Amino acid sequence: MAEFHFLNRVQPSQVTKLNLPENSACVLMKKRDIVIKPTPMPILQPDGVLVKTIATDKLYLHNYVAGGVGGRPVTEPIVMGHESSGLVIAVGDLVKTHKVGDRVAVEPGLPCRRCINCKEGRVNICLEMHYCGAPGSVGSLSRFFALPADMAPHIPDHVSWEEAGCIQPLAVGVQVGKRVDLRPHTSVAIFGCGPIGLVSAAVAHAYSARKIIMFDNNPVRVDFAKKYISPLTGKPIADHVFLTKDLPTESLKDHKPNGLAHAIGEAGSGAGIGDGEIVDEEHEETVGDKKWEQAKKFVAEYVRQAGLTEEEGVDRVIEATGAEDCMLMGIAIAKQGGNYLAVGLSHIQTNYFPTLAVTNKELNVMGITRYTASCFPSALDMLSRRVVDLKPLITSTYPLTRSQDAFEAVVAGGDMKVIIKNQEGFDE
Ligand SMILES: [Zn+2]
Repeated sequence: MAEFHFLNRVQPSQVTKLNLPENSACVLMKKRDIVIKPTPMPILQPDGVLVKTIATDKLYLHNYVAGGVGGRPVTEPIVMGHESSGLVIAVGDLVKTHKVGDRVAVEPGLPCRRCINCKEGRVNICLEMHYCGAPGSVGSLSRFFALPADMAPHIPDHVSWEEAGCIQPLAVGVQVGKRVDLRPHTSVAIFGCGPIGLVSAAVAHAYSARKIIMFDNNPVRVDFAKKYISPLTGKPIADHVFLTKDLPTESLKDHKPNGLAHAIGEAGSGAGIGDGEIVDEEHEETVGDKKWEQAKKFVAEYVRQAGLTEEEGVDRVIEATGAEDCMLMGIAIAKQGGNYLAVGLSHIQTNYFPTLAVTNKELNVMGITRYTASCFPSALDMLSRRVVDLKPLITSTYPLTRSQDAFEAVVAGGDMKVIIKNQEGFDE
């Protein structure tokens, strides 16, 4: 154990002899303000590898746009980037698993191993997690990156650098599948046709989902999802992709109940779309109540168009937008006894949420944070066996020196995945 705790504070000779150029990095100074500047060369540790990073998926748009994510604000400049691939250029003295020249991905989350959650084996919710590119940790949007060797899984030869740079979102997709309990022959509704929604769909498809229904309010993303083709069938992964619009906040109370959704709602706690309605003319309708009624009405139509019955609903709901309207529709579309997974991050802390329907339908409502230990190997395996294709998601690439343009391109919304080439844009 003594060796395990040994820490290099001086760069070992296997790195100094390489005469590496400066370790330029993409540094977020504050919200929407990026500079490319030299940062200290990371010190190779005895149990670590030094990686010449090649490709990095954009990261933490929340940090870039909102100056923080998940309640953790950016208070000092941070090196961004957490989804990378690269070439091993030096290995620590204790490392037996890697050698110079190996192609690896970067697993971005380093758990502390000491907190109560780590001790219970739930390392993805480590209380002291060092997550690349999050406040308090160094990201991988730099030319060189050091990490423990066991956090640098090997990537198959036929997987491109760019695809390997997207393995982390696929690992999240695998974790989504675990949490929501994806099984063959289940129906799946996914709110959000962004990268996480699409990789979740790809995983559900690879796991033999019976029907995949997707939703987004952005027509470009809806079109994109419609054209995301399965490497297994040559057909679109999603069976139906719907363009949603905002839920109206006007009351449906005075409307004559003419849809099945209403009929079911008024029948009490029967099966079907929505559910959980209390028929009480006296009770004061909140904005949430009004939206909930509208959500049921919208969803009844989507379900009909998707060729499901209202009694069926959908077995598994993946809410990957963080938008209140989608949460309401997600609960409305869930089958009785179904699973609802909250994946999307919102910029606000609270939302209207139909708790009565959750109870009446006996739904399993869950959250998710990052991914667990086996997700990276599973993601690599799926790419290796070509049951998931990430290439169509990569819509443009930028040199590291133009990182700000890359982030702005993602903000503009026309791109799906934007890859930054870590070694490009420099003179030498
Ligand atoms: Zn921990």
